[in-house]
Amino acid sequence: MALDALLRKATERLAKAGSPSARLDAEVLLGHAIERDRTWLYTWGDKGCSKWQQARFDALVAARAQGYPVAYLTGEREFWGLRLMTSPDTLIPRPDTETLVALALRRAAQPQGRLLDIGTGTGAIALAFASERPGWQVIGVDLLPAAVALAQTNATQLGLGNARFQQSDWFSALAAPPEGAAFDVIVANPPYIAADDPHLKRGDVRFEPASALVADADGLADLLYLIVTAETYLSDSGWLMLEHGHGQAAELREAMRVAGYQNVETVRDLGGHERVTLGSLITV
Ligand code: GLN
Repeated sequence: MALDALLRKATERLAKAGSPSARLDAEVLLGHAIERDRTWLYTWGDKGCSKWQQARFDALVAARAQGYPVAYLTGEREFWGLRLMTSPDTLIPRPDTETLVALALRRAAQPQGRLLDIGTGTGAIALAFASERPGWQVIGVDLLPAAVALAQTNATQLGLGNARFQQSDWFSALAAPPEGAAFDVIVANPPYIAADDPHLKRGDVRFEPASALVADADGLADLLYLIVTAETYLSDSGWLMLEHGHGQAAELREAMRVAGYQNVETVRDLGGHERVTLGSLITV
């Protein structure tokens, strides 16, 4: 069967199974099965493929029809123009999180500094920042050794030697200043979904690790913990920037003010939702 026809059939099947992005899913999965990129398919859609390539594609489409995320099936996802390896040990990088990267780059205009990405997962935020700020020292930490290994592999594959990763339960493995060096920017996309949120029962999130998604206190527990602990690790004019859910901003701004942060504000993502709240230690 020609690739075009395979795509049409798979798109139909995935749309029927409820995928919100059936055509795109089919293209990415077929590209993966025949080891070509999507744009190649646009030009060579009348070509055929081998029996085994087709069997591989059928298996991928069957898994996707069950709801399995495309990024786990292909083992990769693009974020900030970087190709990142993904695994079921970590959250799949999301376009929303690019808001946090853009903000960190805007506030950290100096050519050198130190950034910490806490709960780094695939390393997405740390690596995107490191790719834009070669003079900065970027450190990513994660509780899970499997995530640390994945993020480090991503750094190596992208040739980003200014980013390194280590295992740490939040800040516990990092020496606090004055023994350790302070950070100019601390960023995090921690778990922030409430355990009873119906969103957890839909789409890709069903297959992602709950430890990366769910937090106590209606999803606020980890964000609030970071607000009170990050101060110790920030430089005098350092910034804390936290991604969060769109109903959480007011609570977080209040918590930052109470904790003594200045310049507290919230930034919206491309969808118009309040997505990142930030504050700095002294008035700048
Ligand atoms: N934004 C993600 C979602 O809604 C959640 C990410 C997170 O909990 N850090 O699926």
